[in-house]
Amino acid sequence: MSCYRPETAVADAPAPAAALPAGAKPLDHNPWDLMQPRAPARPPKEARNGARVVANHVPPQGVYLPNNNVLTPFMRSPEYVQMSTAAAITLGIMPGKMYRCGCTRCLNLLLTYPEGCRANCAYCGLARHREAERDYADRNFIRVDWPAVPLAQAIDIVAKDGAKTPFHRMCISMITHPRSDVDTVAVLKAWTDRVDPSTVPVSILSNPTTMERDDVVRLRELGADIFTVALDAATPELFERTRGRGVQSPHSWSKYWEILHHARDVFGPQHFGAHIIVGMGETERDVLTLVQELVDLGGHSHMFCFFPEQGSLMDHLPATPRDQWRRVQLGRYLIDYGGVRVDQMRFDDEGRVSGFGLPSGELDDVIDRGVAFRTSGCPGKFADDVSACDRPYGDSPPSDIASYPFAPNRSDLKTIRKQLRIVPQRTAPVPPPEDVN
Ligand code: SF4
Repeated sequence: MSCYRPETAVADAPAPAAALPAGAKPLDHNPWDLMQPRAPARPPKEARNGARVVANHVPPQGVYLPNNNVLTPFMRSPEYVQMSTAAAITLGIMPGKMYRCGCTRCLNLLLTYPEGCRANCAYCGLARHREAERDYADRNFIRVDWPAVPLAQAIDIVAKDGAKTPFHRMCISMITHPRSDVDTVAVLKAWTDRVDPSTVPVSILSNPTTMERDDVVRLRELGADIFTVALDAATPELFERTRGRGVQSPHSWSKYWEILHHARDVFGPQHFGAHIIVGMGETERDVLTLVQELVDLGGHSHMFCFFPEQGSLMDHLPATPRDQWRRVQLGRYLIDYGGVRVDQMRFDDEGRVSGFGLPSGELDDVIDRGVAFRTSGCPGKFADDVSACDRPYGDSPPSDIASYPFAPNRSDLKTIRKQLRIVPQRTAPVPPPEDVN
């Protein structure tokens, strides 16, 4: 399940088999009709709102590694936060090695409560419908486990490392919970009391459903640097199907955009953005039109490739075909950083990219630099277009990488070109891509 490689296990779960009829040709994109989430089941009363964890009330004893065979301790933010497996390895509180990359540059701190997230997003491993099956702190999220750690311990380690810290950014990830806004403020205050935001800048991955403009202003005043909104779905219809009434979830497209506009006003150009998941039933044109809209507002898009998260309402569906993903990844990079506009691109009848709006030699250069195919997210200290948040293998298994958490090498670029079906037009050899990690 996870990307890390402890001594005892190497788990590299491939995507589940695509839900295609026997004998059908593999698709080169995930169409709307195929990508229907399952309906959520209602958990029994005794499992709702973290009732098991509350009833057992097991006191936490330091770091908790997710384990479905023991009683989950009673842990709450702001005293406790969860972090990705990659962040826990980098912080040194968990053993393991990452495949082909030394560490992560982003310390993501996820708020945690026994009641968990109250939303039911169809693609998410943290969703409420899993209450019967697994306690919140034991749920997988973007393909990995999320250990729970005392906030003070995490801050202590980073504060002691000072300028030598491997982290280029910290990100507070909110969830849908009545205490999420106030506890985000508490975590941010505790962090900035000990860690200089100019050494490790802070991003907020927001939960617009519970927020108002004043909350956005407060986070900016307290030293947050970038504010992002996880739209995740690229169109209002897809949002409703995967995050709204379609799955008995409380989110609305209009509220997410309201907070996104506040973020633009309060945080300013280049300091706000949106997450988008590619391959949930939207077209490539839909995604790239949204990317353009964000750039025109002054923001950025951070992109994920859809992967059928185990236990989610979409775990029976196919991962995004690599050719669809590569086309959108490349198109997004050109719009975000290459000065190309979506209206210069060409699309076929099914909304797939058929022309990137650049002469082939220039397109070759962009492909060969490889940055377009790296994980996208808030910037770190290497370059504006290189994300601190590399989320190693959060959207694919290491055997079939979607977002590269490192600079792709020559062999990776050959694979990428095959997936894109773009052969190099130039004759002169190009230098190998620069490995800024
Ligand atoms: S609000 Fe976020 S954490 Fe909660 S279910 Fe939706 S995507 Fe998952």
